[in-house]
Amino acid sequence: MRALRLMSWKSEPVLVEVPKPTPGPGQVVIKIGGAGACHSDLHLMHDFDSNILPWSPPFTLGHENAGWVDSVGAGVTSVKEGDSVAVYGPWGCGKCSRCQLGIETLCENPMGAPIPGGGGGLGLDGGIAEYMLIPSDRFLIPLASNLDPSVAAPLTDAALTPYHAVRRSWAKMGPEATVVVIGVGGLGHMAIQIIKATTAARVIAVDPKPMALALALEVGADQTLESNEKTAATIRELTHGHGADVVLDFVGSEATLLMAQAAARTLGDVTLVGIAGGAVPFSFFSQGYEVSLQTTYWGSKPELIEVLNLASRGLIHAEHTRYSLEDSAEAYVDLVAGTVRGRAVIIP
Ligand SMILES: [Zn+2]
Ligand SMILES: [Zn+2]
Repeated sequence: MRALRLMSWKSEPVLVEVPKPTPGPGQVVIKIGGAGACHSDLHLMHDFDSNILPWSPPFTLGHENAGWVDSVGAGVTSVKEGDSVAVYGPWGCGKCSRCQLGIETLCENPMGAPIPGGGGGLGLDGGIAEYMLIPSDRFLIPLASNLDPSVAAPLTDAALTPYHAVRRSWAKMGPEATVVVIGVGGLGHMAIQIIKATTAARVIAVDPKPMALALALEVGADQTLESNEKTAATIRELTHGHGADVVLDFVGSEATLLMAQAAARTLGDVTLVGIAGGAVPFSFFSQGYEVSLQTTYWGSKPELIEVLNLASRGLIHAEHTRYSLEDSAEAYVDLVAGTVRGRAVIIP
């Protein structure tokens, strides 16, 4: 079968022929119906190495996956051949207290995981391929009959990550609240829909690209602002001088973090999701009184079940641009160029 593989650190991925996997005991092989191309994969290709991550190439890219069960190993009874499933991407040990709660992102026994601190497309073979090996059936969530795998795939990260971040600040997203979403890409356009579907807060979307701001309005943002040095001041004007109750930064550059700090209301939340790597001072006076600065990473399995439920009920959907497996490397070129609308999804 064909697979888009990262062969070494600091290199571009290549489409190569590899053997189709076979499931061992407790394992499942799925036929890929869709695999999302994530911005974080660009960091895998260009910025990371073994000094940063506990695992190394070669492996097949793609950590947002869904498809159909192709074959199951001995002892697997939770799914059967032909079932459509989404893959919960962070693979922990399954035994520690975090994993028991379904928060395998934060596994506290990474040496007991299929790969320490990783998953499929993150050290082990991912889903930008015809088939993918899932090391345990506990990583599979059955899809509702109205959710095609190609539609569900991007939800496993591009929706789960913002859902986790939004959920954490739900208490501050009342009917009078204003939430700012910085960066309307694969994750940001989902964040807008999730806030609108699960709260009564007003949403202001911020991005430098007119195409992204148009998408923000289409998916339900109440207002859009072009990001520049005046954006934080404009957000204050739009909120009677108070600032935004919650600011979600899906970029994470120094400029966006400074904007987030300056735009946040007292008692507000500034949540850093994007991994652009920016840093800002954090001191008593670097933001309004009692503003919480926090990071979030991906999401839990129970949250993914809730995300898929929202999608199945038509309350959220991932806008996406489709690519064939042959054109999968091109998806990342377009991601760098900023020309992808919504999420890039590879459909073998
Ligand atoms: Zn991702
Ligand atoms: Zn664990």
